[in-house]
Amino acid sequence: MTTHNATCQCGTLQATFEGDPDFVIACNCKACQKRTGAAFGTGAYFRKTQMTVTGATSHWARTAETGRALENAFCPVCGTTLYWTLEMRPDHIGVAFGCFDTRLPEPARAIWTDEKHDWVSFPNNWPQFPKGTPEPV
Ligand SMILES: [Zn+2]
Ligand SMILES: [Zn+2]
Repeated sequence: MTTHNATCQCGTLQATFEGDPDFVIACNCKACQKRTGAAFGTGAYFRKTQMTVTGATSHWARTAETGRALENAFCPVCGTTLYWTLEMRPDHIGVAFGCFDTRLPEPARAIWTDEKHDWVSFPNNWPQFPKGTPEPV
């Protein structure tokens, strides 16, 4: 089975996943822009049972626009957000795509295009949604 490795910038926080993610999503929401410092955030969603973490984490929680909780786990040394948990997806863990040292599948869709920068465009074959992923998906 494929093993994927993700680390923070300084390398003290690491996560290993057995198998591929269930899906990958590109998110243009302002919160993801601020979390990453990039024009959009990309998250790989694995089942929690696939993950093994080493290293300490700090946590910061926010309420998503849906009213549900989202908690970021970040490295206390370098500040990189490596993963997050969502009340919306209790069996999954979202992991920062850019933190992987291994190759992952491309995103299955782009969400929050209402907050997308004009110069960002995604492949035509990706489903795109103006806000979050319509449920149930
Ligand atoms: Zn770090
Ligand atoms: Zn987002």
